[in-house]
Amino acid sequence: MINKDYRISANEIYRTRDWLELTQEKFAQKLGVSISTVNRWENAVCRPEGLSLVALNSELDKMVRHKGRVSNQVMAAIKKGTLIKKDNCENCNSTKNVIAHHNDYSKPLDVIWLCDKCHIALHKSLRNGTHKSDTIGKERNITWR
Ligand SMILES: [Zn+2]
Ligand SMILES: [Zn+2]
Repeated sequence: MINKDYRISANEIYRTRDWLELTQEKFAQKLGVSISTVNRWENAVCRPEGLSLVALNSELDKMVRHKGRVSNQVMAAIKKGTLIKKDNCENCNSTKNVIAHHNDYSKPLDVIWLCDKCHIALHKSLRNGTHKSDTIGKERNITWR
């Protein structure tokens, strides 16, 4: 999915760190670099190289793969007519980058439509244990076909 020449942008670095829900300090520790290095990357002062670039790409790849896996399953269901795509985020009503989040990958039609921002926020709350995944959607009486 990501080739060797792939160059990660400042924004992607920030989004990856945000997705992992790490502070610049923790993120720097994870990658074995200094905080100022992470800071410089995110401000596009310099670009990651060598081992840091490899490590960053692998984290970015995991994030992209999660999203990719969701959309492939959902696309198939939409094609079959068993799922209807929603254009608005079910949390904030935004129409920007609305994707399907799976509560459970074994139930491909049990999805919630969220914008990129809310999707990341949801994953954060899931990781924090402040949200039980099986109650998402049901709380708001959303019914899935
Ligand atoms: Zn939203
Ligand atoms: Zn998700």
